[in-house]
Amino acid sequence: MTNEYQIRVVPEVAAQEDRLKAYLAQEQGIDVRTIYGMRILKRSIDARQRQIYVNLKVRVYVNEQPHDDEYQHTDYPNVEGRPQVIVVGAGPGGLFAALRLIELGYRPIVLERGKDVHERKKDLANITKTQKVDPESNYCFGEGGAGAYSDGKLYTRSKKRGNTDKILNVFCQHGASTAILADAHPHIGTDRLPKVIEAMRNTIINSGGEVHFQTRATRLIIDHSSLTIDHYCQGKVIGVEAMVNGQCSMVNEKEYRGPVILATGHSARDVYRCLAEAKIEIEAKGIAVGVRLEHPSQLIDQIQYHNKQGRGKYLPAAEYAMVTQVDGRGVYSFCMCPGGFVIPAATDKQQIVVNGMSPASRGTAWSNSGMVVEIRPEDLDNVKMQECKNVNIGNNNGDAVIDDPLKVMRFQEELERMCWQQGNMRQTAPAQRMADFVNGKLSYDLPKSSYAPGLISSPLHFWLPKMISHRLQEGFKTFGRNAHGFLTNEAVMIAVETRTSSPVRIVRDKDTLQHVRIQGLFPCGEGAGYAGGIVSAGVDGERCAEMAAAYLEQR
Ligand SMILES: Cc1cc2nc3c(=O)[nH]c(=O)nc-3n(C[C@H](O)[C@H](O)[C@H](O)COP(=O)(O)OP(=O)(O)OC[C@H]3O[C@@H](n4cnc5c(N)ncnc54)[C@H](O)[C@@H]3O)c2cc1C
Repeated sequence: MTNEYQIRVVPEVAAQEDRLKAYLAQEQGIDVRTIYGMRILKRSIDARQRQIYVNLKVRVYVNEQPHDDEYQHTDYPNVEGRPQVIVVGAGPGGLFAALRLIELGYRPIVLERGKDVHERKKDLANITKTQKVDPESNYCFGEGGAGAYSDGKLYTRSKKRGNTDKILNVFCQHGASTAILADAHPHIGTDRLPKVIEAMRNTIINSGGEVHFQTRATRLIIDHSSLTIDHYCQGKVIGVEAMVNGQCSMVNEKEYRGPVILATGHSARDVYRCLAEAKIEIEAKGIAVGVRLEHPSQLIDQIQYHNKQGRGKYLPAAEYAMVTQVDGRGVYSFCMCPGGFVIPAATDKQQIVVNGMSPASRGTAWSNSGMVVEIRPEDLDNVKMQECKNVNIGNNNGDAVIDDPLKVMRFQEELERMCWQQGNMRQTAPAQRMADFVNGKLSYDLPKSSYAPGLISSPLHFWLPKMISHRLQEGFKTFGRNAHGFLTNEAVMIAVETRTSSPVRIVRDKDTLQHVRIQGLFPCGEGAGYAGGIVSAGVDGERCAEMAAAYLEQR
């Protein structure tokens, strides 16, 4: 017999199987010896009151062994010899597109500019060692995309729960812990993600698909014969040209033929430039910009768990989510990494970009989050240099270009370059203590930080564009009032967080998911402006694969 129970228990009971069994036996009047197994179906922490509880949905197996599968298995047939689809980018969008294509009986050819997920790790270590970023292999580029060396948070605001569950189940099938199916805020951890990603790659290859690393798509091959060309480019994509970086730095050009799922992420600025130059319709999209804010994790635990002792033995590193409005724009925490690291996430040499990641244990001494201000494209239209002191987003005369689809991207670029200059033209990031920033004071020293390339004290309140710094200052005051102890000089702000989402949308048809004017081109995932985060990029990848399959079926 199996029964399911919804219970609320203290953390030490939730964390220990024998205590949980004993609790259930007593509460439900079951003989504990007849409980052969238990499975946690849902788990969330209720930290609103001083006494913390864990809400659990538990399946209990009485007088029988657990027999049902822990996750839903997907079959991947052999697709050798089947029609092929080119998937550009091996981030979550591209990988889930490739796997779904296989499920549907089509052969994915995955092209990835960066290296495989293990080789890539050396280039990440090199950023700290050499203070230089490899433009083809970094925290955003390489197998697994921007999601590989991340926190691996797997929650999404997407309403399409069915699709979300499928993504989590596919992760489990490739080695992720089945705890992600139960946790309200599931995460995998940067130390475990590479193995999962490698297993996904092996499924693609073992099913007859292909994965090519160090292969950067440089041009779409467009057949214009069937359609006229007007102001915007029209036609049908029939493949891509790519630069293949071989051994001894030998570079070859190669063509790959088929419809194209373009899942190149939010940092492939060369792709956006290429599309703009080819007059393929794209538009500017809003983003959020700010800093990484890093506190000692113990302080966040104390605040969130209302306990001077911190989280104790049975609770995970505490999370927070903060949001407010200042002068008509959202100011909020983003991509919180409890017990994690702040990392250098630039994709080119003369940039500083910061982001965050955490290991599965979330056990470091720091907790960080992006603290960002919403920026809409129109906010940049009439930006004068006194508002945005040194940031030049306009033409050479400093005038803003209103209908430039790349204007938000240019704004990001300028901020990242300024930050690199402030950081002494290395990856040492400009930083300021939080309370000093709010009070407009330079920090004479900085606290210890997880950011490995090093920090340099800098008056962020002075040189960040006012539309960002002013809102952050006001936002921090609100957050400090709501969470006592949060606004403190023990916390450090590290600049600059710009890669929160795509600055460009590659405009697609909402039903066919093809580009509005180019057939056979499926803009996909975060880089296309239709996803934000690992799970939503995966969901979008699956949908693009379905539409690419339908497109091939009609031909
Ligand atoms: C440090 C960090 C931490 C993050 N943490 C989380 C988190 O915890 N949870 C979460 O949900 N989200 C997180 N994110 C965001 C998340 O990673 C992205 O939303 C997600 O990866 C987007 O998936 P994607 O496939 O659309 O694009 P990406 O993951 O960006 O993948 C795009 C891929 O395309 C490749 N590419 C680009 N141009 C070309 C080209 N011309 N030819 C061939 N290949 C190309 C890139 O190398 C890259 O591998 C984090 C991001 C970063 C940077």
